[in-house]
Amino acid sequence: MTAIQIDGKRIAQAVRDRIKKEIEAERSTRPPGLAAVLVGENPASKIYVRNKRRMCEEVGIYSEEYTLPEDASESQVLELVGRLNADPKIHGILVQLPLPKQINTRRILDAVSPDKDVDGFHYTNVGKLVANQDGFVPCTPLGIIELLSASGIAIQGAHAVIVGRSDIVGKPAACLLLHRHATVTICHSKTRNLAEICSQADILVAAIGRPRFITENMVKAGATVIDVGINRLPDGKLAGDVDFESVKNRAGAITPVPGGVGPMTIAMLLSNTLQSAKWSEQQGR
Ligand code: NDP
Repeated sequence: MTAIQIDGKRIAQAVRDRIKKEIEAERSTRPPGLAAVLVGENPASKIYVRNKRRMCEEVGIYSEEYTLPEDASESQVLELVGRLNADPKIHGILVQLPLPKQINTRRILDAVSPDKDVDGFHYTNVGKLVANQDGFVPCTPLGIIELLSASGIAIQGAHAVIVGRSDIVGKPAACLLLHRHATVTICHSKTRNLAEICSQADILVAAIGRPRFITENMVKAGATVIDVGINRLPDGKLAGDVDFESVKNRAGAITPVPGGVGPMTIAMLLSNTLQSAKWSEQQGR
């Protein structure tokens, strides 16, 4: 058996087309606005921010970019975030991580207004996610749900096993799957019998950060395998957390790397920004 390949590029394009249409239909109102805050010259961060701005342009989201020097102080970043919080053109604020050492990341993330926290990292939004209330949800886990639903994969009643418990992927993905009535198991580096637990999954999400860690023997025949991992190999190529070549012979559906979860993350950021503009309009902000 060869698994169906879940095409994240196509599904992300469909999400962007939907957003673009909606923004075009609401031309009379102010367009959604996204501000990206970068501190320092991290090349990967610069590429991410450039891609995000390009995608904003594609769908009609107004975007701004602020780059502070590597040695910027915490108060400089807080001052910028405060200005963006008060700017009515801006509906989403994205602080590109990682931040330099002298800056307390949590303090910055919690300074972003929860109403503009399109990354879903503010504690208010973390709480709302756990309580299954409307709020902003981190983009990568939201992208996983979009991939599953666009591919017609049933979540209700499925056993979802997530390997990885980070605040930005594993934990929020677990909440989203639980709220959609999956039975959820979260695994991590101290989990015993990992292979056995993974092989019970109907939906297996790998968010580990170790290239090709999930092998064929850890996957149930016909399972859906979502590979979140992005790992740079010594030869410069990218690899996921799943050994795609062997697992594709056993899984029912699988996401490739690149071209699976990755493109969804930016698409969901745009979707959250549009959602923020709608909430802001409804509340007369
Ligand atoms: P973290 O490093 O924050 O978390 C990794 C998790 O994997 C931890 O919970 C860790 O367990 C667990 N883990 C590590 N080793 C093992 C092991 N041997 N067995 C079982 N569990 C293990 O990573 P992130 O969640 O931020 O990212 C995960 C991957 O996803 C990375 O490759 C990252 O680049 C990628 N990523 C991709 C995105 C996208 O847009 N596609 C977005 C975000 C991340 P413990 O908690 O016990 O240490």
